[in-house]
Amino acid sequence: MTRKLFVTTALPYANAPFHIGHMMEYIQADTWVRFQRMRGNEVRFVCADDAHGAPIMIAAEKAGLTPQAFVAQIAAGRARYLEGFHIGFDNWHSTDAPENHRLAQDIYRALRANELIETRTIEQFFDPDKGMFLPDRFIKGECPRCGARDQYGDNCEVCGAVYQPTELKNPYSALSGATPELRSSEHFFFRLSDPRCVEYLENWTQDGRLQPEVANKVREWFTRDEDGRVSLGDWDISRDAPYFGIEIPDAPGKYFYVWLDAPIGYLASLKNLCSRLGVDVDAYLAQPELEQVHFIGKDIVTFHTLFWPAMLHFSGRKAPDRVWVHGHLTVSGEKMSKSRGTGISPLRYLELGMDAQWLRYYIAAKLNAHVEDLDFNPDDFVARVNADLVGKYVNIASRAAGFIAKRFGGRLSADVGVEGRMVLDALRAQAEPIAQLYEGREFGKALREIMLLADRVNEYVDAHKPWEIARQPDREAALHDVCTTCIEAFRLLTLYLKPVLPELAARVEAFLKVEPLQWADAARTLGAHTIGAFAHLMQRVDAKLMDALFEPAAPAQEALEAAAAAAAATPGGEALAPQIGIDDFAKVDLRLARIVAAERVEGSSKLLRLTLDAGEGRTRNVFSGIAAAFAPADLVGRTTVLVANLAPRKMKFGISEGMVLAASHADAKAQPGLFLLEPWPAAAPGLRVR
Ligand SMILES: [Zn+2]
Repeated sequence: MTRKLFVTTALPYANAPFHIGHMMEYIQADTWVRFQRMRGNEVRFVCADDAHGAPIMIAAEKAGLTPQAFVAQIAAGRARYLEGFHIGFDNWHSTDAPENHRLAQDIYRALRANELIETRTIEQFFDPDKGMFLPDRFIKGECPRCGARDQYGDNCEVCGAVYQPTELKNPYSALSGATPELRSSEHFFFRLSDPRCVEYLENWTQDGRLQPEVANKVREWFTRDEDGRVSLGDWDISRDAPYFGIEIPDAPGKYFYVWLDAPIGYLASLKNLCSRLGVDVDAYLAQPELEQVHFIGKDIVTFHTLFWPAMLHFSGRKAPDRVWVHGHLTVSGEKMSKSRGTGISPLRYLELGMDAQWLRYYIAAKLNAHVEDLDFNPDDFVARVNADLVGKYVNIASRAAGFIAKRFGGRLSADVGVEGRMVLDALRAQAEPIAQLYEGREFGKALREIMLLADRVNEYVDAHKPWEIARQPDREAALHDVCTTCIEAFRLLTLYLKPVLPELAARVEAFLKVEPLQWADAARTLGAHTIGAFAHLMQRVDAKLMDALFEPAAPAQEALEAAAAAAAATPGGEALAPQIGIDDFAKVDLRLARIVAAERVEGSSKLLRLTLDAGEGRTRNVFSGIAAAFAPADLVGRTTVLVANLAPRKMKFGISEGMVLAASHADAKAQPGLFLLEPWPAAAPGLRVR
C-alpha cells in the first residue's frame, strides 16, 4: 500500500548562512525521503526560513536593513547549499509569508475559543535607551550565586546556576549598556497546565511514537505534586512591540513569540506547495493515513514534543506522528566552533570542488536512529570514502564494463553461471533487510550491509579473474558470465546506495540504460540488455583537500559568508560586531610579540609557521593564514600583536599557540590587501595591549 508522508526538517533561523550541522540534518531527512520515494510512497518534503524574533530584528538594525530585507538576503543564499548537497525539498518558504500569519492567527483563535489562552501581568526588564523589553539573552549582569560578571540573563556559564534575569546583580542591557528597568506588561499564556493538555501530552509523548530516550527525557518535564497530580507549566507566547513577528489578534502592540509561529511554518510551507500544485491542503492533511514526520535536533525537543502537538491538537488539527531527534555534529571530537577553527563551512567544501556525495556518504555512514552526537573526523572521512565508496563499490563496474563493451558489443549475457547466480541471489536477499534499516533510520547499519555485499562481489571477481579469462580464447562465455554478474551486482549495489548517492545513481542509470531505479527493481534482472559506455563515476578524496578544508579560513573567506548579512555601506565592508563591555575586551590578552622566525608550511599554500617571542622566556609556535600576503623573510625581526590567551589549537601541521592580528577588507576580491599590526615606535615583546 502506498504510504502518504508529510516530512519536514527543523526551520533554520534566518540570521546566518547554513553551517555543517544544518547539512547533516538535511542529509538525514533527504536520504529517508528518497528511500520512501523509491518504495513508491508519496512524500511532500518541505522546509522554510524561521524569520521572526528579537535576534533577527536586532541584527537587521545593526546591518541597517529592515528585518524583511535582512531575511531576504539570507534566503537568497540558501539554494546554493541545497542544490550543492543534493537536498531535494519540494518547497522552501518563510515564516514571514502571508500563509503563516494567517495560520498562526487561526490556531491562536482556536486555542482561545478552547479556553486555553489567558493573560497575566509579568514584570520584565526594559531597556530605557532602546525603548524595548529585553529578551533574556540580551540582559547581562553578575551571577546571583557565584558573582561571576557578564553572565546571561538565564544562566551562569561559570557556575552553571539557572535563574530569572531579575535575579542578576547589577544588570545591564547588552544592546545599549543601559541599566534596565523593571516594568510590568501584560503577556499571553498557552495554558499547558490545563488538565486536558496534561492528559493529552502525557499520552502523546509516552505512546511509543517518540524514540525511547526522548520519551524518557520528556517525562522529566511533567512535575508531580504531593497528591500525585501531574502538571506542566504554562507557556508565555507573547512579546511586546517593537518585535519582528506576527500580531496577536485583538491585542494591539502584542506579537507572538517566535517559537509559536516557527513550527506553524511547516504547515505554511506545505500550504504554499499545495496551492502551487493545485492540491487542497486541508483535504491533504485530513487524510487519515497521512503520516506527519519531523526531523529535528536535540536542542529543540520541548517545542516539538509539548507545545507543537498541543497547539495542533487543541486547535482541531492532527498532531505529528513522529518527531525524530538526532544529536549534534562534532568535529574531531570537539563541539563545532568557528572561533576555535574546528568548523567546516559547507560552502568552502563546495568551493574546493569536493564531491557532495562524499559528505552524504560519510554522514549517512555515521547516522543511526538514536540521539547520539556524530563526529566528523578528517582521516576517517578520507578512509571511508576512498576504501568503501571508491575502492569497493565503484571499482566493480570499472573492472567489468570494458570487457562488455569491447568483447560483447555492450550486450550482457542472458543468463549467468551457477556461481554468478549465487552472488546475485545473495545480493537480492538483502533488499528487504536493507530497506528495513533505511526505514528505521539506521543508515550506518544499512551502508555496512551494502559494503559487505560489495566485498562479496569483489571476492567473486578476484576468484574468477576476468582479466585472465580474457586472455584465453576458448573462454568467451565464461568471461561474458563473470562480467555480466559484475554489472548486475553493480546495478543492485547502486539501487541500495541510491537514497544516499542520488546523483551518482542517476549517472549509473544512464550508463546502464535503465529507468530510474526503484526498490522493486532489486527483484528484476537485466537479462540480455545492452548497456552504454562506462564513464568515470567518482574521484578518490585527495587528503590535501582536507587540509584546505580545515585551514583557518582566510579573512576574505569569513567575510564572504558574513557578507550576505552585511549592509551595503559599512566600514571595511562589514557591519560592526555586537557591542561588548570593557570586561569582554579584558578577557582577550593581547601582547607584543617579536617574529623570531617565519617559514612556509609544506602542503599548505595559505599558512606560514611563525616563531614568536612574547617575552615569556620561551618561543611560541603560531600558524597564520598570511602566506599569500607576506614573504617569510620580510617578517623576521618585526614586532606584531599576538592574542596570547587563545586556547592552543591542534592543526594538521602541529599546535598553534595563539594568533597574530591583521586587518583586511571584508571583500578581499574587491579590495585586496592584508595589513599586519606593528607597534609604533618599536617596543619590547611581552607588553600588554590594552
Ligand atoms: Zn555563577
